[in-house]
Amino acid sequence: MSEGAAKKEEKPRKFHATRGTRDLLPPETALWNRVEQTAHEVFATFGFGEIRLPVFEPSDLFVRSIGQETDVVQKEMYIFEDARGEIWLARENVRNSIFRPAERSSVEVLKGFLNDFQVRIQAALRSGEVEHDPGQSQYYKYFSDGVEYFNKLVVKDPSVPLQFLDKAQEEIERMGPFLKHAIVGVRIGSFVVLRPEATASVCRAYIEHGMQQLPQPVKLYYMGPMFRRERPQKGRYRQFYQIGAEVLGGSDAPAIDAEVIEMVMAFFDRLELQGVQLEINSIGCRDCRPKYVELLRAALLKVKDKLGPDSQRRIETNPLRVLDSKLESEQGIIATLPHIAVHLCEECAAHYAAVKHQLEIRGVIYRENWRLVRGLDYYMRTTFEITAQGLGSQNAVCGGGRYDGLVELLGGPPTKGIGFAIGEDRLILSLQESGKAPAQQGRDVYIAWMGERAHATAIRAAKDLRKAGFSVELPPVEQKFGKALGQADKLGAKYALILGDNEVSEGLWTLKTLADGSQAKYTEPDLLAHLRKSL
Ligand code: ATP
Ligand code: MG
Repeated sequence: MSEGAAKKEEKPRKFHATRGTRDLLPPETALWNRVEQTAHEVFATFGFGEIRLPVFEPSDLFVRSIGQETDVVQKEMYIFEDARGEIWLARENVRNSIFRPAERSSVEVLKGFLNDFQVRIQAALRSGEVEHDPGQSQYYKYFSDGVEYFNKLVVKDPSVPLQFLDKAQEEIERMGPFLKHAIVGVRIGSFVVLRPEATASVCRAYIEHGMQQLPQPVKLYYMGPMFRRERPQKGRYRQFYQIGAEVLGGSDAPAIDAEVIEMVMAFFDRLELQGVQLEINSIGCRDCRPKYVELLRAALLKVKDKLGPDSQRRIETNPLRVLDSKLESEQGIIATLPHIAVHLCEECAAHYAAVKHQLEIRGVIYRENWRLVRGLDYYMRTTFEITAQGLGSQNAVCGGGRYDGLVELLGGPPTKGIGFAIGEDRLILSLQESGKAPAQQGRDVYIAWMGERAHATAIRAAKDLRKAGFSVELPPVEQKFGKALGQADKLGAKYALILGDNEVSEGLWTLKTLADGSQAKYTEPDLLAHLRKSL
């Protein structure tokens, strides 16, 4: 290898953000902050308080709430064993060891790795760090009996029945691969999931903190990253951000549904989000929905061979989701399917009518969409979705609905619930597309200084100006005034404060307005007053 090639080899690996994740950078982050600040303000005016939730939760929380048959649970969850690194590595050592039963040393290596794993996992089980459940315990016993037997074979322990000892080598050949395989099934930590959404967590927290004792309903909002292992594209990421709110407890009065929707619309209005369209639907309750789903299933079975494979599968698993299909070829058939509106029970029909009336009183403009169903199982009655402009096919910026019964499903008391989640990434995209994004963040004042005395004065001036709330750029090393002014321009500064030894001894500071190049001299207090007036 030539020296050049060797150098090239040594170049450290370049890292990239993981697929579907991205860095948010200035100046864009200023827009994110504005959006989030607006959410804090608007939601507070509706009496909502912020809840901050863990980013990962036990996997069961999501499987139980979101539903086994949903895309989120089937394909999109980031799930992993929450195991201590050393146990993980010990298990990997067993899995990765190359086993050559004819070589004594290879047998010893596997035996060593197995025993190392056993010591660590036993300690973790004893301390309760790794949970025991009956299935797991049974499996673990099966595995550790195997390890014990393997150990005895290797040392030809006399307690092994003679007929096995006689063919110990054969038994070792059989047990090695078996144990390497079986170890995969030994659980070394509980399963956790990077949250794909936050409603389940809010309900968990409501129960955990006995919030049913508080005045009802409890109104909470949250913001933060969510994780779904989807195919990344515009407006669809694997780490994305949601801003959401939930109303838990109290009644299911239609005015609550309407006020929640009014709040999202007020938020979007304050942000001047363009092309906002609200669609609503009612998907019934535990009584009427199953009957409708059966009707739908029957209707779908009649046209099964005209549907694509996804929809065909959903006839069995989740017929409502067929209504969600975007497949061009299915649209004609879907149009002929029965509408849920005419199959709602009396209570649901009355609730839906009242929600619409309440929206009208509030001046909220909506469109009814009988095909609007939500992707998660827990929704009932009111569902809604909001779209905005500039987003292509991923144009939903908010989804929400009622989920009475979810808290109960998670082990809490019977509790009404309704909420929504806004896709913040898409909200930001839409604001950018319609020119609502801030430009590069400039500086108010760039301080161009030369000379030791001037530097000390510049430091003091920067401190005072910053205290007064101005953004100030203070170059750390001396530069010629020409270069400094060029730099000030590049940074988009509004003013350059010029401090040389002359200015310092005269006590008169030069302020240059960069937009028109005009200059004026000020005493220190006058300068501050002037900036206060003009910025
Ligand atoms: P979609 O139909 O776009 O997949 P969804 O029904 O899965 O949306 P919800 O679970 O209702 O979405 O989440 C609410 C909002 O979160 C969506 O309307 C969307 O704005 C946003 N969202 C969902 N998944 C993603 C993602 N992978 N990337 C960015 N935003 C997302
Ligand atoms: Mg989705």
